Amino acid sequence: LMNLTRKLIEIRSMLLSIDQNDALKLPSIVVIGSQSSGKSSVLEAIVGHEFLPKGNNMVTRRPIELTLVHTPTPPGEKPSEYGEFPALGLGKIKDFSDIQRTLTDLNLAVPASEAVSNDPIDLRIYSPYVPDLTLIDLPGYVQIASMDQPDSLKEKISSLCDKYIREPNIILAVCAADVDLANSPALRASRRVDPLGLRTIGVVTKMDLVPPEEGAAILAGNRYPLHLGYVGVVAKASGKKRNESTGAVVQRQENDFFRSHRDVFGASGTLMIGTDTLRKRLMEVLESSMASSLHGITNAVQLELEEATYQFKVQYNDRRITAESYVAETMDALKLRFKEAMSQFKKPIIREKLKAMLDDKVMDVLEQLYWLDKRAPELGELAADGRLGPEDVEAYWKHKLDAASSLLTKSGVGRDSTLLVADGLRALIDSIASAEPFNYHPRAAEMLVQFSHMILRDRIGVASDQVENCIKPYKYKNEVEVDSREWEAGRARAIDLFEKEIGMCEAKLKEIRKKVGGSRRLGSLVNYVKSLEEQKKERNARRLAASLTEGDGEQQEEVTPESYRYPPAQILDARHAILYTDRLAVLRLRTVALKSKRCKAGPENDVFCPEAFLNVVADKLAWTSTMFINIELLDQFFYQFPREIDSRLLYDLDRREIVEFARENPVVKKHLDLQERKDKLEEVMKQLTSLSTLRSDPQPAPRRN
Ligand code: GDP
Repeated sequence: LMNLTRKLIEIRSMLLSIDQNDALKLPSIVVIGSQSSGKSSVLEAIVGHEFLPKGNNMVTRRPIELTLVHTPTPPGEKPSEYGEFPALGLGKIKDFSDIQRTLTDLNLAVPASEAVSNDPIDLRIYSPYVPDLTLIDLPGYVQIASMDQPDSLKEKISSLCDKYIREPNIILAVCAADVDLANSPALRASRRVDPLGLRTIGVVTKMDLVPPEEGAAILAGNRYPLHLGYVGVVAKASGKKRNESTGAVVQRQENDFFRSHRDVFGASGTLMIGTDTLRKRLMEVLESSMASSLHGITNAVQLELEEATYQFKVQYNDRRITAESYVAETMDALKLRFKEAMSQFKKPIIREKLKAMLDDKVMDVLEQLYWLDKRAPELGELAADGRLGPEDVEAYWKHKLDAASSLLTKSGVGRDSTLLVADGLRALIDSIASAEPFNYHPRAAEMLVQFSHMILRDRIGVASDQVENCIKPYKYKNEVEVDSREWEAGRARAIDLFEKEIGMCEAKLKEIRKKVGGSRRLGSLVNYVKSLEEQKKERNARRLAASLTEGDGEQQEEVTPESYRYPPAQILDARHAILYTDRLAVLRLRTVALKSKRCKAGPENDVFCPEAFLNVVADKLAWTSTMFINIELLDQFFYQFPREIDSRLLYDLDRREIVEFARENPVVKKHLDLQERKDKLEEVMKQLTSLSTLRSDPQPAPRRN
C-alpha cells in the first residue's frame, strides 16, 4: 500500500507538468494557518529538520510544493537525507540550512510590491525518516497588515489559499491551542469549502501553552467537529542539548509533554496526539484520498489521451519529430539551398556579369578619349581611305589606342569585379537568412549573415589584389595579343553595344520631344540655346579683347530679355537634346566605321577601330578576373561557409539550445507540444493501469488510529 501513494505522488507531479487543468489533479495536502500559528514548526517536525525561512517579516511569499520521498537505507549503509529543487538544477542539497537559505532567497526574489506570488517552488526531500507525502505550504493568513505591506496583501493571500484548498486537496488547518478556535482563519476558510470537514484535518499546536484538560477538550472536537479529527502537537525546540538535532529535541520534548500528562491524553485512548500520529494520519488520509481519486483521474486521463491521440493523427498523421531532427533537417536544407545557389556563381555566369560591367567602362573610356575629341570624325575618313595602311596613320591615333587600353585596365577592375561577386554572395545569404525557416530563428539568421561577412572581409582584399596583378599586362597595348576570331567577336560586340546605345539615345530624344511639345518646338528651343552659346562665346571673346586693350569698358553685361523666353526646365531639356544628338551622330558614324571593310579585315586595323579593340581587351579582362575571383573568393567561400555552419551553429548547441532553437519555429513548437502531451498522457495512463491491476480494493481511511 505504501507503494500506491508513492506512485500516485509521481503521477501527480507528471500530471502537473502536463497542464494545470483541474480535471487532471491528484490530491495533495495543503497547509494553511494564520501567521505564528506554528505552521512552519509543524512542517519541520514532520520532516525532522529546520528548513523553512524564518524571520519577523512574512517569509513564505510563494507556495512551496513539498514532496517527501521515503527512501529506505540499504543495509550496511548510512542513512542519507537530502533535498532537491528540480527547477533550479542545484543537485542534492545535504545541508538543510542550505535549503533554508535557498528558500529564503527565492522568497525574497518576489518583489516587495507584489508581496506574494502564485508561482510555486518545487522542493523534494528524500529521507528514510519521512513518509511519502506531498504538502503545499502557503503564506500564513495575516490578521492585521503591517505598515510596510500593501493593503491588498490580506486579500491576495486569501485568494491564493482559496485556489489551493479546492477539491480534491486535503486541508491541514493549523490552529494554536492558546487561541480560540472560533478565531482561526484556517478553520474558517476550510469550513467555506468543506463544511462537513470531510477533507480537513485540524492540527492544534502549542498544546503545552494551555492546561492539558483544555487541550484535550479541543482535540475531542466537540465544538467544531471535523470528520477527520484533530491532532495535538508540541512543536517547539527549546533546551537543545549538545550534539542533538533540532528534530530530535522537538520529538523528545513532545514525548515528554504528553507522557507527563498521560492521565489526561491517554485515558480515553481516542485522542490523536503527537507528530508521529500526525504523520501516520496524513499518510492514511492522503492515501485513501488518492485511492478514491484514482478512478476519476484514470477516466479523465483516458479522455485527454484519446483526444491528444486523435489530434496527433489528424494534424500530423502520427509523424513524430524531435528537436534534434528538426535542427539537423534545417541545417541540411540550408546546405542544399547553398549548393543549389552555387550554380548561380558558375564561371560563365560570372563572366557575363563582369563583361556587362566592363562594357560600361569601355563606353566611358571611348567617350573620354574619342567622342569628346573634335578630331574624332577624321578617324572614320582615314579608315575609308583605301590607300592608307595602319602604319601610315598619325602617331596621335596610335597613342590614343595605347592610352585607351591602359585607361580601361586601370579603371579599378580588380576591386569592382570582386565587389560585384561579393555583393552577389551577400545577397544570396541575406535571402537565405530572411526566408523560411530562418525568419523564425533571428539569432541563427544573424549568425549566418555574420559568418558570410567575416569570410568575405577576409577574402575580398586578397582576391582583388590577385585580379589586379594578373590583368597588369593588358595595360600595355603591345602585350595584348588578338587573333582574328577574337577580333571579330569584339567588333560584333561593339556594334551591338553601339546599336543599343543608339536606341537608348533615340528613346531619350523622343521623350524630350514629347515633354517640350513636339519636334518643332524642340527645334526652336535648341536653336535658341545654341544662339545663347554663340552669344556667350562672342562676349567672352570681346571681353578678352577688351582686357587686352585695357579701357573701353563694355564690362557690364546686361541680361538680355531673351533669357526669359523659355522656362529654365525647358532650357535644360534642350541642352540634353543637344548632347544626345551629338552623341547619336558620333555613334552612327562609328557604327558605320565598325561595319566597314577596314574594320572587318582584322586586328591589324585596330588603330582605326578602337571600339573593337577595347571590347577584345574587356573580354580578356573578364576572363582573367573570373578565373582569379573563382579561385580566391568563390571556392574559398563555398568551402568555408558550410564548415562555419557546422562548427559554429550546429556543434556548438547543447541539448537545451537545440530544444530552444526548434521551439522558435511555431509550427514545430505546436507539433512538439502535442507530441509531448500525448507521450506524457500515455506514460501516466500506463502507470495508472498498472496500479489498478496491482491494487486491492481501497480501504476507507479509519477515523482514528
Ligand atoms: P508560523 O508563522 O505559523 O509558521 O509559526 P511558527 O512555526 O514560526 O511558530 C510561531 C512561534 O510559535 C514560534 O516562536 C515557535 O517557536 C512557536 N511555537 C510553535 N509551535 C509551538 C509549540 O508547540 N509550543 C510552543 N510553546 N511554541 C510553539
